[in-house]
Amino acid sequence: MSQMKYDRFLNEISRRREPSLLRELFSLQVEAPEDAVFLMAGMPNPDTFPLVEGSLTLRDGRALTLSPKKMVDCLQYGPTPGYPPLLKQLKDLTQRLHEPPRWRDSDVVVTTGSQSGLFMAMEMMMSPNDYVLIEEPCYTGAISILAPYSPRYLPVNSDSEGMIPDSLKAALSRWRPKDAQDPLSDIPKFIYTIPTACNPTGAVTSEERRREIYKTACEYNLLILEDDPYYFLQFMDEEKFPSSYLRLDTEGRVLRFDSFSKIIASGLRVGWVTGPQPLIRKINLHKGASVISSASMSQVVVNELLEMWGDEGLRKHVREVRRFYHTQRDAMLLAAEKHLSGLCEWSVPAGGMFLWIKVGRISDTWSMVLERAMKKKVMVVPGQGFMTDSSSLCQYLRLSFSANTPLNMEKGLCGLAQLIREEIELQNSHQFLQKWG
Ligand code: PMP
Repeated sequence: MSQMKYDRFLNEISRRREPSLLRELFSLQVEAPEDAVFLMAGMPNPDTFPLVEGSLTLRDGRALTLSPKKMVDCLQYGPTPGYPPLLKQLKDLTQRLHEPPRWRDSDVVVTTGSQSGLFMAMEMMMSPNDYVLIEEPCYTGAISILAPYSPRYLPVNSDSEGMIPDSLKAALSRWRPKDAQDPLSDIPKFIYTIPTACNPTGAVTSEERRREIYKTACEYNLLILEDDPYYFLQFMDEEKFPSSYLRLDTEGRVLRFDSFSKIIASGLRVGWVTGPQPLIRKINLHKGASVISSASMSQVVVNELLEMWGDEGLRKHVREVRRFYHTQRDAMLLAAEKHLSGLCEWSVPAGGMFLWIKVGRISDTWSMVLERAMKKKVMVVPGQGFMTDSSSLCQYLRLSFSANTPLNMEKGLCGLAQLIREEIELQNSHQFLQKWG
């Protein structure tokens, strides 16, 4: 196994991030005699906290109780990497699910949803005008992080089997693998991808493609940012899930972003990043400086829930969530077959919450949605928002099947079909006028 060096991936700012001097002082606490008096803590006194204990009711009727001691954990600052019992559980879970080959050189940090993990990782690497390899279409939240750097995007195409390895190779064709050794080269540092139930396409990247993409990453010394919040929402048996990039990572070049948003609760804002220790250390330094620690209450609640469930309980819960979205997807497909056949094309989403449709007979969906959709009492997201070049025309729409009843999906798609038909007529009459008017 080669020994990775991570300097190439860090920008000026993250290179300058160092632990605070006080950290050293606090680490001495561990060896302190039992009767030592600590006059250094900057933490508030828990005796002043207004809440003392609590109880939450689970959907199955069980109670999750927060004892007075747990409540102090909920209300007090915590260590930057995460609430220790939760961190331990996340490490165990990640190890069990992905069996990372470089586990001993890896670390985990709790994040405020995976979004904050992505933000910190990109902030660690990006400099203005950098080239960026990004799966397209792509999660808008990633584009929001990247856009202020005015990146030179190298979009990598995807289809119903996810990111296309040949498109990645084509995007890299202006460089040679050895350029990655040249500190002055402008070769990209990472590939950003959503391999499972991609938002917006719903595609799951096949195992074969993942292996090929990983090989290219090794060849060009790239990191892979594996943004995987829909990991548990693949509509297939768990044994058939393709290997995560983390599982394939024999060299230490994957940063994996997980989240409880889609399987427990998005508002708790609990996610985690797994990756090579030197990179997680930098993310921790960013996190310490920006938020000190993630919200303790959320971390304690997730920890208690996971403890209560155990492995089997968590599996059972995610199976139920998966089944729910699978049924929702089927309802959406049924409504699409009924109303959009002949008007639109789509691939069956292999997971997640979205149907990505192409409206081939109109040149762009933006004005149709923004100016006319509400009149038909339906709202969808125009595809342009998921493209790196937001000024180009886009024939796609993203429809969500997460929160609507089958009846509402049916109603919504009926309205959408009318909207599209009218848009086609409008477009045809414009073209007629342009030609003959
Ligand atoms: N990545 C992708 C692909 C997403 O779809 C989302 C949420 N929509 C996120 C990251 C952020 O999720 P969270 O911060 O809630 O974990």
